[in-house]
Amino acid sequence: MRQLRAILIGAQGRMGRAVAEIAAKENVTIVAASEAAEVLIDFSAASATGEICEKALAQKLPVVIGTTGHDGKQQDEIARVAKVVPVVLASNFSVGVNVLFWLTEQAAKALGDKVDFEIVEAHHRWKKDAPSGTAKALAEILQKSRGQKNWRHGREGMIGARGTEEIGIHSIRGGDIVGEHTVILAGDGERLELTHRAASRETFARGALRAARWVVGQPPRIYSMRDVLGL
Ligand code: NAD
Repeated sequence: MRQLRAILIGAQGRMGRAVAEIAAKENVTIVAASEAAEVLIDFSAASATGEICEKALAQKLPVVIGTTGHDGKQQDEIARVAKVVPVVLASNFSVGVNVLFWLTEQAAKALGDKVDFEIVEAHHRWKKDAPSGTAKALAEILQKSRGQKNWRHGREGMIGARGTEEIGIHSIRGGDIVGEHTVILAGDGERLELTHRAASRETFARGALRAARWVVGQPPRIYSMRDVLGL
């Protein structure tokens, strides 16, 4: 593999450390100065988006964004940068999860109008945003499969019968769970469950580095991990 020079934002964090460890094995050198870099990799916090976008624009650096939980303004900032440099924005860099995205799309299409959609995600106790970016991406896939649907975040009290327009989304937080996502497609007399479980952060780190190699030289726009994988 040819050498790649990358700036890593959030290098001291859980994901940053995982990326640095895999980078050392995959001939990716983490550099400190923008002038020496070919790509910028972000696993920090959504609040850092403005700063990261400025850096990318100033040095015309392609960006790989793994951070989740961006608000509307931060999403606009990313869209603005993607007019000038290529950006891979992925709530989840694991290959398995991106296959889960694809399977969810296929299952929702094949099972038709009669099934109810629910998503359950579980993460470690330190995760700051909920639901996870991956759960939101899954909800968007389900939403697209059947036109407008309402996201329902948890349930409590006398909620009455479930609406057919609902996509239920439920977040579990605890211990050191790396990341789990289940999509439930529940019909009358049968239920399909699609589950992905990440056992370590290595899978996200490897995927992010794969995206970093891929994005260098791409035309400006926002890409997903599915674009990187050709799924
Ligand atoms: P973490 O809290 O362990 O690490 C975040 C790091 O970013 C910390 O070292 C913090 O000091 C640093 N940071 C915060 N604000 C900063 C700023 N303005 N400038 C520079 N550095 C800053 O969190 P984590 O578990 O490593 O997760 C980081 C992000 O990655 C989260 O948004 C998480 O949801 C996301 N994530 C994405 C994937 C994926 O595959 N896309 C996988 C796991 C985690």
